[in-house]
Amino acid sequence: MPGVSQFTIEEAADESAKAYAEGIRSVLLFGIPSEKNERAGQAYAENGVVQRAVRAIKKAAPELLVITDVCLCEYMSHGHCGIVEGTHILNDASLDLLARTAVSHAEAGADIVAPSDMMDGRVCAIRAALDAAHFPDTIIMSYAAKFASAFYGPFRDAAESAPQFGDRRTYQMDNANAAEALREVATDIEESADMILIKPGLPYLDVLWRVKERFAMPTAVYNVSGEYAMLKAAAQNGWLDERAAVMEAMTAFKRAGADLIVTYWAREVLPWLENGVSGR
Ligand SMILES: [Zn+2]
Repeated sequence: MPGVSQFTIEEAADESAKAYAEGIRSVLLFGIPSEKNERAGQAYAENGVVQRAVRAIKKAAPELLVITDVCLCEYMSHGHCGIVEGTHILNDASLDLLARTAVSHAEAGADIVAPSDMMDGRVCAIRAALDAAHFPDTIIMSYAAKFASAFYGPFRDAAESAPQFGDRRTYQMDNANAAEALREVATDIEESADMILIKPGLPYLDVLWRVKERFAMPTAVYNVSGEYAMLKAAAQNGWLDERAAVMEAMTAFKRAGADLIVTYWAREVLPWLENGVSGR
């Protein structure tokens, strides 16, 4: 996608320091490992790509809040978010690997871990593992409502994490089912999630609103790659005014209750905000 690149660890540290100087206060990391296997070994390796990146970023920009995506799909040879047996995802067997991944991120210096796998019981498993490893202050931002969505397409190419068989619909949510989303959020809060994340963003503003209204938790929204790609392509074709359209979308997230917006536009939005709102 235009404006989106994979970074080496050094580049990630440099870009993070620049972003911090511009006013950005948090980053969310995804790793692309040098090797993938059936146990996602690089997801929780002490010298895994994310673990090294967290340490490098914390050195380059100590005040920058570092959030790490906790999942296994980018590290699995088959591209699924859990351990696979035959064509089944083994929910409970995957929890241990997710917990180990979260602890390894905390050890590297991550402030917030963000489990995105959608396995049942993972918030509880991660909290217990973090506490046992003496990281009681590490925050869990749970992807509590993550819908199976066509809007993730560009990210999967960028992160090289498309599933090699089947799809993720057995663990991601049915996009027609809002009640299930509310149940998943309630469960994650019971399991002691500190923050809730809704993903994707624009097609799910109703879910964001309901979650914020019902639970009054710190709630984040993920403005995903497909949403970025749509507006970016339209702007590049001269069909939309990018700044006005993006600011309208960001305003919609805030209006629907978002406390935090994960977006590819963060560094562009910041000066737009400082120079006076919508640009219309
Ligand atoms: Zn995943």
